Amino acid sequence: MTPTATLPVALDAATIIATINTGLFIDGAWRPALSGATFAVENPATSVVLAHVADGGPADADLAIQAAGRAQKAWGKTSPRSRSEILRRAYDLLMSRQEELALVITSEMGKPLADARGEVAYAAEFFRWFSEEAVRVGGDHTITGDGKHRILVTREPVGPCVLVTPWNFPLAMGTRKIGPAIAAGCTIVFKPAELTPLTSLALVDILVEAGLPAGVLNVVTTSKAGSVVEPWMDSGIARKVSFTGSTAVGKLLLEQASRNVMRSSMELGGNAPFIVCADADLDRAVDGAMVAKMRNMGEACTAANRMFVHRSVATEFAAKLAQRMSELSVGDGAADGVNVGPLIEEKALLKVQGLVDDAVARGASVVVGGSREGGAGYFYQPTVLGNVSPDSLLMNTEIFGPVAPVVPFDTEDEAVELANNTPWGLVGYLYTQDINRAFRLGEDLEVGMLGLNTGMVSNPFAPFGGVKQSGLGREGGKLGIDEYLEYKYLAIPR
Ligand code: NAP
Repeated sequence: MTPTATLPVALDAATIIATINTGLFIDGAWRPALSGATFAVENPATSVVLAHVADGGPADADLAIQAAGRAQKAWGKTSPRSRSEILRRAYDLLMSRQEELALVITSEMGKPLADARGEVAYAAEFFRWFSEEAVRVGGDHTITGDGKHRILVTREPVGPCVLVTPWNFPLAMGTRKIGPAIAAGCTIVFKPAELTPLTSLALVDILVEAGLPAGVLNVVTTSKAGSVVEPWMDSGIARKVSFTGSTAVGKLLLEQASRNVMRSSMELGGNAPFIVCADADLDRAVDGAMVAKMRNMGEACTAANRMFVHRSVATEFAAKLAQRMSELSVGDGAADGVNVGPLIEEKALLKVQGLVDDAVARGASVVVGGSREGGAGYFYQPTVLGNVSPDSLLMNTEIFGPVAPVVPFDTEDEAVELANNTPWGLVGYLYTQDINRAFRLGEDLEVGMLGLNTGMVSNPFAPFGGVKQSGLGREGGKLGIDEYLEYKYLAIPR
């Protein structure tokens, strides 16, 4: 384990964080919470407090949604090109500050710097993509069958949007929503995660510098999520909610959305199956498993949660995977050479340990890892469990940690049945060299996304989203902007 980080003087994380506004951003101005309260943001690698951030409440939430409501009409009428150019400038600014932002992400979230740089590039690409989509919003025109009417279909911004994001991708989960909302002409009230607000606050200044007018984006940080988000949902001003986070909170927000019949986009939890067939290229499958499992220390909704491997290759796969896992360096993500940072908090660490203990109690073997690492942070060893029983708790719980459970299967049907035996359906991964098997299984798997001989599906050019209890709607790709647009049909006699 690498204990401490050494950073170049010019790019010192503390210096960068000291420049970030830590207030609420409402109607184009920074200000403290009305109560004057703040909450602390910690570095999960060191438990050191990085900053104190304004702790908004219902009265602040009200100011924010009022500002978004006032700004909507004028903002919705701005030209698509002007909105596009704001996003394009914001893309350029994000990329020009990639290193600084990566340091902020690593400091508050823990992922290694290389991954954080990757997140900045991924996040920025949503702005570039939606800057290009802003000017391509089309409509439709037809003549009725009897020839007597024209039907003109136009698209309009849905209206003020409530955006709520999780801590695991503190920049990208925000830009994936803010980008299309700006492109479509919607105003925004945004609540970032309590554990990682600094990255979102840094993003605000970039959007302001890029030319975003006052009132379009309003950000309220809080340690009491419900006290800010529920007033927004009940305001009657917000017309849409877009949420990324756990299925439990997603369901709560859907109930709240029903009160005002709000448009709802939900990017919720996953329980991804990673299927390795007997004919798979095993080395390629191990490469893919390392990405699908270890990206973000396993703290990703797309993380391979259950590895179903044909019995004929299961032991070899587990051994190869364990070898690769044992080569990873665990430590402070800001230090050179670290591949695996800390988990986000103590609670997450205890949960992962509990899931591993349960699997072992039910007969799993620990091929590598299996316990926490020492030190002040929340570090867990990269772990491979062999011969995991399908009734283990981690088969139906998001592990959200660096633990790969390998479950052997005998037939294709069994693999599909095991994979689909979950209320979630975000993503799946399938390794086979047989094209017919790939399509056969691909069609049978209940997922919104499938990685075929790849461990990575996230891409701003693609529609990201799940089926079953993994959510509603899609983010990114050509479909992403639709979530922020309404149809209007005009009937016109000829
Ligand atoms: P979470 O607990 O559901 O929190 C997500 C966001 O919701 C945070 O901003 C949180 O605020 C807020 N929140 C919590 N309680 C709320 C309430 N009563 N009313 C309104 N908002 C509330 O999820 P998380 O632990 O941050 O993130 C992990 C989850 O996100 C996993 O399930 C993961 O699979 C999912 N995820 C899904 C995707 C996807 O695209 N499908 C992507 C990334 C993550 P606080 O921070 O203050 O608690």
